[in-house]
Amino acid sequence: MAIDFEIPAEAKAIRAKVRQWVEDECRPAEKKLLDGADYKTTLAELRKKARAQGLWCPFIPKEYGGMGLGPLANALVQMELGESYLGALSMNTQGPDDATMLTLLQNGTDYQKEKFLKPLLNGEKRICYSMTEKAAGADATGMQTRADKKGNDAYILNGEKWFSSAASVADVALVMAKTDPNAPRHKQFSTFLVELPNPGYKIKRNIPTMALEGPLSHILGGGHAEIEIKDLEVPAENLLGGEGNGFNMGQHRLAYGRLRHGMHNVSMAQRALDLAVAHITQRTTFGKKLDERQAVQFMLAECATQIYIARLMILHIAYKAEKGMDLRNENGIAKVYLANMVHKVVDTAIQLHGALGYSRDTPLAAWYTHIRSQRLVDGPDEVHKWTTGRNVIKAFKETGTTAKACGGDLL
Ligand SMILES: Cc1cc2nc3c(=O)[nH]c(=O)nc-3n(C[C@H](O)[C@H](O)[C@H](O)COP(=O)(O)OP(=O)(O)OC[C@H]3O[C@@H](n4cnc5c(N)ncnc54)[C@H](O)[C@@H]3O)c2cc1C
Repeated sequence: MAIDFEIPAEAKAIRAKVRQWVEDECRPAEKKLLDGADYKTTLAELRKKARAQGLWCPFIPKEYGGMGLGPLANALVQMELGESYLGALSMNTQGPDDATMLTLLQNGTDYQKEKFLKPLLNGEKRICYSMTEKAAGADATGMQTRADKKGNDAYILNGEKWFSSAASVADVALVMAKTDPNAPRHKQFSTFLVELPNPGYKIKRNIPTMALEGPLSHILGGGHAEIEIKDLEVPAENLLGGEGNGFNMGQHRLAYGRLRHGMHNVSMAQRALDLAVAHITQRTTFGKKLDERQAVQFMLAECATQIYIARLMILHIAYKAEKGMDLRNENGIAKVYLANMVHKVVDTAIQLHGALGYSRDTPLAAWYTHIRSQRLVDGPDEVHKWTTGRNVIKAFKETGTTAKACGGDLL
């Protein structure tokens, strides 16, 4: 009996619709913005159209106004969106809001869902996630921000955060802080919903980064803020998921949240390769078209291989998610692979464009500087590889073979 790689007709149809959507609406709207159109008006028009076509919050359940897609259909949709900066935004499935919507959906009280989740789902508000501090990132248990109880009605937070993406355009911040320094390491932290702007949550600056600054950088949520938290009073009803559960609650961030960028990378890499091939089929050097050179064909083959592996990884993980299987090991492997894959493909596309690739006349330079962050965010490469390596050893010790940690479920 053969493995069935056939994608269900319904999921195929949604993918085709989203592919068309990005092509017909997002890319032209992106161009309009670069030509000076107003961001808010353009995005509002785009979102209105998307919603009218049923393209809205892909993985959010229907009863909450989303498309209610399962892991496979969602993965197929997300894999289309990375072609345009407006892809995910147009369907209200941009980070960091999307994973945070899930956190609220799973852990919010009725009050929190009504007050904070609803406007997010309606696209009326945006949310950011403040965990990382200068003091601690990869090992977030080193966070220093404190939350002290003020009677039974409130908490007072003091500390600092940095690299909170989209904080300067957010209406709400999800802030992690230490509530019990004496609890076991992963039970010391809690998560709070903070309404913005707020004098206790002071955005000191958007940190200049290596990503190219364009007219859209900050409004699209590309800014990463450094924040001072000083005597920030948060009502107790804004504690999310109970005291000490800050880390436990983030589990889905380790699954979908960690792969979201990777899914978008597939379409970005695909478009980069398309651009490269469009270029080399036109360009002649030393009396021959570039596409006739075997060295160039090998470069394309390497990119094609990596994009293919990337698709298979995502689809396999989606399959495991559909079946409710443990996907943590594959997820960590894929997170690293997908970040490096897009890097390799965009870099190759730049190389094949020559100086044009280095210019800003194509989107490649902006992508190149933008995607470098992916080997750091949501856990740096080394931390994931560390875990994967330990899983390999564990599998061997348990079963006498490392297969289980190497996609062995497929065997
Ligand atoms: C563009 C961007 C957006 C971000 N957005 C957000 C956000 O919205 N909210 C938020 O809270 N945070 C955000 N972050 C922060 C991000 O999650 C952290 O940068 C990341 O977790 C790494 O932490 P760090 O920068 O403190 O590096 P460190 O923890 O200091 O690690 C530095 C390096 O040390 C190495 N390393 C660390 N641990 C190990 C190990 N065990 N073994 C081997 N090597 C190791 C890795 O190479 C790592 O890159 C963002 C970061 C970037 C760059």
